[in-house]
Amino acid sequence: MIDPLQSGSGSPQGPETCQICGGDGRIDNSFGSVAKCPSCHGSGKRSRDMGFHDVTKTKPSHHLPTNRAGVVEKQTWPTTAQGGQLATEIRDASGLTADTKARLTREIIEHEASHGLCTQTFLKKMRKQFRPAAR
Ligand SMILES: [Zn+2]
Repeated sequence: MIDPLQSGSGSPQGPETCQICGGDGRIDNSFGSVAKCPSCHGSGKRSRDMGFHDVTKTKPSHHLPTNRAGVVEKQTWPTTAQGGQLATEIRDASGLTADTKARLTREIIEHEASHGLCTQTFLKKMRKQFRPAAR
């Protein structure tokens, strides 16, 4: 039994031959001069990896603002678990103004930056500032 898909569909030039120039890599124009094939750039082979490049299209990613690269965003929240916990307590504390909360949170971040972590002493000291009644 003959598979109809495998018989009669064979191209003598194969799938990799450039279909614009027919494999020559050149195109004869009407003025009698020979130009390099714009599709395969003279190789005569279809460049399947590159696909079809539309040079008139501008890539949208090219003009995106690059403010994420190179610019360090200002840190607004502690990086350590203890610092984050403390900052959450500060954020949820009812008796603090927004300014005080921001100042205390910034203190945690600065403490982390210089110590690498939140020490227990620091955590206790901070909690006393917004939880005077805590035992
Ligand atoms: Zn070609």
